[in-house]
Amino acid sequence: MNPIPKLRSGDKLVLASHNAGKLREFQELFEPFGLIVISAASLGLPEPDETGTTFAENARIKAHAAAQASGMLALSDDSGLCVDALGGDPGVYTADWAGVPRNFDHAMKRVEDALQAANATTPAQRHGSFHATLCLAHPDGRDVIYEGKVEGTLVWPPRGDLGHGYDPVFMPTGFDITFGEMNPLDKHSWAPGQVGLSHRAKAFGKFVEGAIERE
Ligand code: IMP
Repeated sequence: MNPIPKLRSGDKLVLASHNAGKLREFQELFEPFGLIVISAASLGLPEPDETGTTFAENARIKAHAAAQASGMLALSDDSGLCVDALGGDPGVYTADWAGVPRNFDHAMKRVEDALQAANATTPAQRHGSFHATLCLAHPDGRDVIYEGKVEGTLVWPPRGDLGHGYDPVFMPTGFDITFGEMNPLDKHSWAPGQVGLSHRAKAFGKFVEGAIERE
């Protein structure tokens, strides 16, 4: 099968997410390229169960479900934190570790308790990485995956309130501040030809380079 043709200004795609924050983020990202992003919620698309064991599997499940149900190109993203000393946990269960309703103070403490139980005390033993996977799916079944990763160290206690999720306990390699202490623009920004810092910035950058026709 041929690859999915590159996206051009005026093309529409559905974002396979019911999260309003994510929709805004993608709309802002794609606006300069003239791409129109429609939410799965506005089309009344169902949310499939994320039954995969990898970020890519879950991203594929979400993108294909939205592409099939809408008959349009669909984009999904899946992300999470992997901690080496915990065998890659929380991984695809990163959001689940925060419980319902989400409580990230509780989730960060759970990671810390698990690190203590594993006797992980040195920075090398407390290595982790954030992962972001984007999947673009065509209703005919074709898809393409773009992945980004940022390496770092899990610190305790949590530091900074500028981020979200697990940001206060993640210190990216080469920095002495956590994502929670970092200006979100420095964390997320990317520019054509440059590699962004965060996992999501890197995945976005690859998507823009690989999936969008640039004039
Ligand atoms: P999902 O991609 O919506 O399934 O959520 C993944 C989980 O990973 C969420 O609970 C987020 O809080 C967490 N996560 C993903 N990216 C980041 C990040 O950049 N900082 C902090 N937490 C993150």
